[in-house]
Amino acid sequence: MADGLLIIGSSQAGVSLATSLRALGYADPITLLGDENHRPYQRPALSKEWLQGEITNESLMFRTQEYWLEHRIDVLKNERIIRIDKRDDGSGVAHSMSGREFAFDRLALAVGARPRRLLLDGVDLPGVLYLRNADDALELKARVPDVRDVVVIGGGFIGLEAAASLTKMGRSVTLLEAAPRLVPRAVGEQTSAYLLDHHRAAGIDVVLDAEVRRIVARGDRVGGVELADGRVVPADLVLVGVGVLPNTELAESVGLVCDNGVRVDESALASDGVTVAVGDCANLPNPVPGAPDGDRVRFESVNNAVEQAKVAAYAITGRREEYAGIPWFWSNQGALKLQIAGLSSGHDRTLVRADPERGKFSVLYYRGDRILAADCVNHPLDFMAVRAALSKGLSIPYDAAADPSVQLKSVTVEPAALVAD
Ligand SMILES: Cc1cc2nc3c(=O)[nH]c(=O)nc-3n(C[C@H](O)[C@H](O)[C@H](O)COP(=O)(O)OP(=O)(O)OC[C@H]3O[C@@H](n4cnc5c(N)ncnc54)[C@H](O)[C@@H]3O)c2cc1C
Repeated sequence: MADGLLIIGSSQAGVSLATSLRALGYADPITLLGDENHRPYQRPALSKEWLQGEITNESLMFRTQEYWLEHRIDVLKNERIIRIDKRDDGSGVAHSMSGREFAFDRLALAVGARPRRLLLDGVDLPGVLYLRNADDALELKARVPDVRDVVVIGGGFIGLEAAASLTKMGRSVTLLEAAPRLVPRAVGEQTSAYLLDHHRAAGIDVVLDAEVRRIVARGDRVGGVELADGRVVPADLVLVGVGVLPNTELAESVGLVCDNGVRVDESALASDGVTVAVGDCANLPNPVPGAPDGDRVRFESVNNAVEQAKVAAYAITGRREEYAGIPWFWSNQGALKLQIAGLSSGHDRTLVRADPERGKFSVLYYRGDRILAADCVNHPLDFMAVRAALSKGLSIPYDAAADPSVQLKSVTVEPAALVAD
């Protein structure tokens, strides 16, 4: 009997790959294996609705047991793969920490990413937490009732989402960001400034240009965070959200090329031409139409995990489909719903569409006359219009978009029309 496909990592990308394959009629055995002690679950709500107690544990689960059984997907938890023997044809055997062996005809790496750790005195004190998986989230949630002062280190998406949730839950939150603005890697300056105003107004004490020197103890637990200027911000709990690192060790051990993730092509195939790598662990050619030649990206988003899993499923079933999606992302931060469409890198001008009365705010990014991306706060119509335009290869004229009362979808044009103007 065929050994079939072994998917290492049973989160967003691994689950999407398994379900996409069955939807395409792939009939070989699928083993979907992960090292966590939970059924496959979704991460986004861990810093938001779930943390705030608005949704149940069960609602985080990807699929029911009946689905896995019915679709003959063998889902295994608590199995950490520590070694892989792989042959040139892509088949091999994976060895888990528990001593089990998993033979495969083909391998998929969906091993995701892990939090970047702070290297400072005091980081090992009880009460210094990270937030990547369900166990982290369970620990955080369990500690909240005993906590008054929280310091969040890192003003990226996870830090802001958790800070907003903890503020809503009545905690006093200070957020320390090393850069001069919030979410510096993923949004433009205008959006950063908007986020700053919003979160300060909501009660978060945001400190920019914050240089953390060490974590200080109170008794045998965390007691505060000391900054370079000597100030100590009191903390009963410190949450660190300073980015993630792709898990590439297994890929490297079997000789796959890695560079900020497992290097894959448009079809999610790694450098051996047969293993696939999907989701947060993969480094792929920038899929945005018109992106500079050779540009590569590693996304950390649900949308990317799902879209990349689809092309990987095609590759495994022998149909080459190129990933040419429009990246999109969302981040709910308390009352603020941020949605991002496209990639703004390479833009040369921006346009702000603000409706302060309704709390709507969008920034559109342009290179010349072509729209590249949009950051939309509480503005789903702008988000949907930009996403739809980008995915159809259309643009939205800058001048027409400058009137915030104009519905963007009503002014979408072929790029050729911009030249004719
Ligand atoms: C708190 C939080 C909130 C988020 N919010 C959003 C959001 O609002 N919007 C959005 O688009 N994205 C969000 N994300 C990002 C999104 O969840 C990730 O992009 C997505 O989970 C990536 O899926 P993945 O399967 O590639 O990797 P991961 O989710 O990292 O899963 C990889 C899995 O592989 C397992 N694994 C690793 N190595 C091994 C091994 N050797 N053996 C066995 N198993 C292994 C890991 O334990 C893990 O279970 C959020 C992430 C977090 C943590």
